[in-house]
Amino acid sequence: MRILHEFIYERPKSVDEALALLEKHKAGLAPLAGGTDLVVGMKMRSILQITEKAGTQQAKWRAARRVQPIQKPAVVMSLADLPDMKGVRAKSGRAWIGPNTTMADLASCGCVPQALAALADAAAIMGSPLIRNRATVGGNIMNARPAADTAVAFLALGGTLLLASRSGKRSVDVGSFFTGPGRSVRRDDELLVGLEAEFRDGEGSAYFRMGNRRQLEIALVGASAWLRIDPRTGSIAAARIALGAVGPTPLPAQAAAAGLVGAKPTAEAFEAAAKTARGEVKPIDDFRGSAAYRLELVETLVQRALETAAVRALGKGARA
Ligand SMILES: Cc1cc2nc3c(=O)[nH]c(=O)nc-3n(C[C@H](O)[C@H](O)[C@H](O)COP(=O)(O)OP(=O)(O)OC[C@H]3O[C@@H](n4cnc5c(N)ncnc54)[C@H](O)[C@@H]3O)c2cc1C
Repeated sequence: MRILHEFIYERPKSVDEALALLEKHKAGLAPLAGGTDLVVGMKMRSILQITEKAGTQQAKWRAARRVQPIQKPAVVMSLADLPDMKGVRAKSGRAWIGPNTTMADLASCGCVPQALAALADAAAIMGSPLIRNRATVGGNIMNARPAADTAVAFLALGGTLLLASRSGKRSVDVGSFFTGPGRSVRRDDELLVGLEAEFRDGEGSAYFRMGNRRQLEIALVGASAWLRIDPRTGSIAAARIALGAVGPTPLPAQAAAAGLVGAKPTAEAFEAAAKTARGEVKPIDDFRGSAAYRLELVETLVQRALETAAVRALGKGARA
């Protein structure tokens, strides 16, 4: 049995060449970054057939198919040779992150500004060392799964995605990017060419998640928080909270964040915000965990993320 279907492999040397290929093949072409989602999706059909024949673990694999559906692109386009798609540049309160930056690099480079540490937290705990060496932040966000760790962190950071096509470039606020599980406003002819986020002193962020295992497991719940603390008053001047795996897309907990503005960064304030966040989501039961357990996790993880974000905003703590 063929594990992978037949496809054309392209390896463009410039973004212009890549965009021309996207314009030509549109939905028939899949950009390939680390391949840790795409190649699994391309193998999913064979995996299902093998497990069906063996009569084992069918329910588990059918459920896994919902997480990573079958993909059968006619053209696979490697992004490996494209220039200027990797690394982090942070200058004058603005950070640019190349979409092909691997999770391992993001977690260990020390180049992610402290205010944006949630992104490095998320990169550091996803997958396993092997996966983190291949998986990219761009692939994680473009795959648009509700539990995608860096997507949740990037939502809390209020980041922007830079999408390029032959007809030009556009910036999309990550908060309006996801439209459903595996779906987004990315057009078939567009390539993610950068992630951007602003940062300044007095800001801190963090990401925490819980899964059924420590590694090689998608989050049961992921929670990220970002805070700006006014140095004159010591009060919270702005806040954002984002949650993963509790709805069809990464979700903001808007009421919880709004309730923190003007409050002092105390344990009581964070506990109240975490309770509000719990009331803002309606997770489902699935093969990973029950809705009730997920709600408990929302409360615990939001509080943890807020406490760590505050410590970092006050300049008292480095990344966990
Ligand atoms: C064993 C295992 C464990 C995992 N654990 C986790 C985990 O803990 N947390 C988590 O969030 N994920 C996890 N994943 C999923 C996966 O590793 C991540 O989503 C990863 O970041 C995807 O990045 P990639 O570079 O491999 O993307 P790819 O597989 O190359 O691409 C993913 C999707 O994005 C598209 N794409 C990639 N780059 C671009 C671009 N520049 N422009 C437009 N489209 C693009 C591709 O066409 C594809 O549809 C795991 C996967 C495996 C196999």
